Amino acid sequence: MRPFQVYDTRTGTVRPFVPRNPPRVGMFVCGLTPYAEAHAGHGRVAVVYDAVARAVRRWGYRLFYVQNVTNVDDKVIDRARELNRDPLELSEHHFRAWLTAVEQLEVRSVNLYPFATDYVPEIVEQVEELVRRGLAYVADGDVYYEVAKFPRYGELSGQRVEALRPGARVQVDPKKRAPEDFVIWKSAKPGEPTWPSPWGPGRPGWHVEDTAITGRLLGPQYDLHGGGTDLKFPHHEAEVALGEGASGRSPLVGYWLHLGMLEMRGEKMAKSVGNVVSLEAAIRIAGPEALRFFYLNAHYRSPLVFDPDRSLAEARQSLTTLGAPYLRLREELGRDGLARPGRELPPDLARAATAMPEQLDGLLANDFATREAIAALFGWSRTLGEWTAKFDTLSGTALATLGAPYRWAAEVLGLFPERSLPRPTADLSSLVRVALDARARARARNDFAEADRLRDALAAAGVVLEDDAGATRWRWRGAEGNP
Ligand SMILES: [Zn+2]
Repeated sequence: MRPFQVYDTRTGTVRPFVPRNPPRVGMFVCGLTPYAEAHAGHGRVAVVYDAVARAVRRWGYRLFYVQNVTNVDDKVIDRARELNRDPLELSEHHFRAWLTAVEQLEVRSVNLYPFATDYVPEIVEQVEELVRRGLAYVADGDVYYEVAKFPRYGELSGQRVEALRPGARVQVDPKKRAPEDFVIWKSAKPGEPTWPSPWGPGRPGWHVEDTAITGRLLGPQYDLHGGGTDLKFPHHEAEVALGEGASGRSPLVGYWLHLGMLEMRGEKMAKSVGNVVSLEAAIRIAGPEALRFFYLNAHYRSPLVFDPDRSLAEARQSLTTLGAPYLRLREELGRDGLARPGRELPPDLARAATAMPEQLDGLLANDFATREAIAALFGWSRTLGEWTAKFDTLSGTALATLGAPYRWAAEVLGLFPERSLPRPTADLSSLVRVALDARARARARNDFAEADRLRDALAAAGVVLEDDAGATRWRWRGAEGNP
């Protein structure tokens, strides 16, 4: 497992990452409330944590990544009423559209998208536990969390409870003991989806969905929690109070990773602000690869200015520049694959190419500095640019070696996915063994023409054979210095 360090909001420091149960790592990211089309800000969340997950897995950790879906909520219910639709059907519809969009963005790392409504038993159980521990109270079919009973409230976001109290003019829910208390179970109103509970029919409050889901899937304490920085308060503060309150264990989360806001016209992109560009439209404008590049070509903690005419156009231009020599290389390699004959690389250049992935890992291991990694890739693309005119003289192995930094980018950043790139992969090994067995049988019956035919076919596929005293060993050509 490669060591790395990450900025943790709770402690306000960049700290070495130490998982609770290595090599396992549990990661939770606040997902969508799918009451309307997802916007470009949501796309940033999906892409950034996808890159985080890819990197952590590449570094040898067994990451389990959960992103919840808040499919029942005031917003969903209100919107469904406006449209005269069923709320759960409405959220299902928008969630499907979201999946289609993020798949176009090469988001591949989420293990599970749990729906809040599928975890009502866990939610009820957690609310019961909080009532039992005296941290929550029942008022007329509703259940509230009593913030005053949790002294650490405010520690994550650095807020003071007194500062959270609304002004005297604001109407406070008369059922609450204090204005900062928040609802964790809501009694049923006519026409809403409801579930049975010890407090009568009702539905979950927002914050408790997350902690009931993580409690179930990741345990009472887990490693990484992500989400937009706008969720720090009150949502994540509430998660800490709920999770730690229910389990009696602290901390709920080892490392809080908060993502900077996507800004448009000087404000965070949000439906409530009215400055949203739908994710689908952003993909259409930029192209999915350039949009992914745009999100990653910034530090994840920084705000990012979204401007369809400027920043997206610039991202497309930069990505084209970055990718041009590699696309040429792939074309050249695509013709004959790794078996193509030609010159090998000067040793210095081969070493530099082989060392690049490790350097890129090193950059990313410092709080997921994707922008620095992309800058280093630009440096490599300039080197590659100087060799483009000589690509046709190079061997397949030499070309593949030059492409190593881009293969790193495909694996970790999800840029330049290489579906079409001929490259030895582990799942072809079984086919190689089948061919080797056939060749051994041909030789045993003295059918040397057939044995040679199989050997040539394997060589053309990039397999090197070494016959050694009756046994045949094999390896992928270039497999030594060229992962
Ligand atoms: Zn959440």
